[in-house]
Amino acid sequence: MAPVILVLNSGSSSIKFSLYDGPAEQVTGQISGLGAKPHLNLEALLSGRKIDRALDSTDGNSHGAALGALLPILNEELGGRSVAAVGHRVVHGGTKHDLPVHITGAVMQELRVLEPLAPLHQPHNLAGIEAARAAFPGAEQVACFDTAFHRKHPWVNDTFALPRSFYDEGVRRYGFHGLSYEYICEHLKKHTPDAYEGKVIVAHLGNGASMCAIRAGQSIGSTMGFTALDGLPMGTRCGQLDPGAILYLMTTKGMSADEISDLLYKKSGLKGLSGLSQDMRTLSQSDDPRAAEAIEYYVFRVRRELGAMAAVLSGVDTLVFTGGIGENSALIRDRVCADQEWLGIQIDPALNNAGDGTISTQCSQVAVLVVPTNEEEMIRRHTEALLASHQFPA
Ligand code: ADP
Repeated sequence: MAPVILVLNSGSSSIKFSLYDGPAEQVTGQISGLGAKPHLNLEALLSGRKIDRALDSTDGNSHGAALGALLPILNEELGGRSVAAVGHRVVHGGTKHDLPVHITGAVMQELRVLEPLAPLHQPHNLAGIEAARAAFPGAEQVACFDTAFHRKHPWVNDTFALPRSFYDEGVRRYGFHGLSYEYICEHLKKHTPDAYEGKVIVAHLGNGASMCAIRAGQSIGSTMGFTALDGLPMGTRCGQLDPGAILYLMTTKGMSADEISDLLYKKSGLKGLSGLSQDMRTLSQSDDPRAAEAIEYYVFRVRRELGAMAAVLSGVDTLVFTGGIGENSALIRDRVCADQEWLGIQIDPALNNAGDGTISTQCSQVAVLVVPTNEEEMIRRHTEALLASHQFPA
């Protein structure tokens, strides 16, 4: 019988969850507003049960309490079966982890050491693991890393031009969104094997956004670097920034590290530029010129990285759009691909508006695709594979 696997994506104020019975997704949802106004959204796909309600504040004041509240509901849906393994999204696997791992005490210690490298994500990912260990004591716990897919990218994309000692201590371009890129690669391998073997650029454009240059399923370079701040502008994150601007903020404006962190992670990007919203749909529908300018900057940066990645790969065979914006915004895809015939990219307006599968014209040298990503499914596959390989301590 196929194992029951729970996939958790634990953030600072939310836990997203998906429960799988074998490959079939059975329950999906999230607990949001942790520590403030906890709220549960859940949809059970087999029973048709839907929950959309506030949780008691005691049930939502920590990751542990929230999972405790979720447990009886999941058990009802499981009808007597138990969770064999919990697969966790963990943002940072450092230099060591290029594959998912069974989480032991020693692994937890290693992952804690990495907290300063991803202060806004890693501590919450680890809190989710602790909570899952308590809530599902009989289940194996598996960590799947956003950095793992990029671990073998070339040194030139791994290093900064700082003294070597910084590289040695782990100040590197790790790259993130690896589970999404891996899912897209597996999709290409299955549906268009020739494309998988070729030169691929994937634009993962969601609230967080990055692009990845991939050759034969191998990450060659990513726009994200040491943290999930670099590269493209995002919902609230700044993307690429001259480090001199940070020195200015510190020395001239007297801003503290916490204030700068807050500025760069939470007040910048589309939200900061537009002064209106971090949400691309809202900005696309706005008449405000600041919304138009924010979109213009966003598109400009995606186009810049597209050109840079094509140069790094010495050409491009396939361009894939994914993530909430990449999958749903015909406007952004259209603007990114406009006047890119020099690169061999030409999209068909009708196909682009339909936004499903191939959107390039027949004479486009580059195949342009829209592929919905599924990071949870990738975590499920990894977790199931680890279970099947019995790589767990007795
Ligand atoms: P996350 O990184 O949090 O997983 P998503 O991948 O869900 O984010 O992407 C969220 C982004 O997708 C938001 O900016 C949202 O406005 C945008 N988005 C979703 N649907 C549309 C749409 N139809 N048109 C434009 N943007 C959209």
